[in-house]
Amino acid sequence: MDVTILGSGTSHGVPIIGCNCETCTSDNPKNKRFRSSIYIKTNVKNILIDTSPDLRLQLLNNEITDIDIVLFTHPHADHIMGFDDLRAINRINKRDIPCYGNKYTIEAIKKKFEYIFKDRHCRFSVPSVELNEIKNELQFEDLKVTPLPVKHNHDNVLGYKIDNFAYITDCSEIPKETMKLLKDVDLLILDALRYKSHPKHFNINEAVEVIQNLGIKKAYLTHVSHEIEHEKVNEELPEGIELAYDGLQLKV
Ligand SMILES: [Zn+2]
Ligand SMILES: [Zn+2]
Ligand SMILES: [Zn+2]
Repeated sequence: MDVTILGSGTSHGVPIIGCNCETCTSDNPKNKRFRSSIYIKTNVKNILIDTSPDLRLQLLNNEITDIDIVLFTHPHADHIMGFDDLRAINRINKRDIPCYGNKYTIEAIKKKFEYIFKDRHCRFSVPSVELNEIKNELQFEDLKVTPLPVKHNHDNVLGYKIDNFAYITDCSEIPKETMKLLKDVDLLILDALRYKSHPKHFNINEAVEVIQNLGIKKAYLTHVSHEIEHEKVNEELPEGIELAYDGLQLKV
C-alpha cells in the first residue's frame, strides 16, 4: 500500500496565523503543516483518514480524486471540518462514501453536520455519505482494517491498523489491549505534539518510548506543533524515527 501524509500539523496548523517564530516564518516546506490526515492507496480500497479543515487543498495538492471509504479518529474540529468537501468526490464517483468511526464520533458528526442528514433531496449540494459505527475489524477482500481504541485525555478515540500499518493521531495513552494489536506493525505513524508535555497528546519523548517499547523499526511522528522546527528536531530523533511532513509518501 501507499501512504501519503496529507497533513502533519496540530489543530492550529503551521504556520499559525500571526506567529513570528522560527518555524512559522521558515521557508522550508517541511515546516508548513496542514491539519493531520492521511490517504492510503491499496489494491482493494482507497482510504482517507479524517476530513481536516484543509481537505480541499490536501486533495488538490496530492491530485486525489478517488476515496472509497473514510475512517474517522474522533470529532475534534481539526479532524472533521472538511467533511463537506467530500461532495467533490461524490461528484466524480457518483456513489455514497461509507464513513466509519466510534459511537462518540458518529453522534458528534450527525450533530455538527445536521444539514447533511436532513437535506438529502439535492444530490451534490450536500455530501452523499453513509455513517457506520465501527465496533470490530472490517474486512475488504484481503484487506483488514482494525480500530485501535486509545485515550485522548478523557476522550475515547480511535487509531487504525490497516494490515501491517498503523496510524494513531491525537493520543495521550495507549491501553494494554491496543498495545497488543500493535506488536506486528511494520510502520507506525504516531502523535507527538512537541517536547513539552500536554494532557491530550504524547510529547516527543513519550512517543519515542512507545515506539521503542513496541520494537517497531520504522515510525513517523505527526500532529506536530510550531514549537518543532523540522530539520533541528528530525536530526535529534533516534534511528528509525522521523518527523512526518506534508506530501511525504511511504510504501508499506
Ligand atoms: Zn487533532
Ligand atoms: Zn510559530
Ligand atoms: Zn483531538
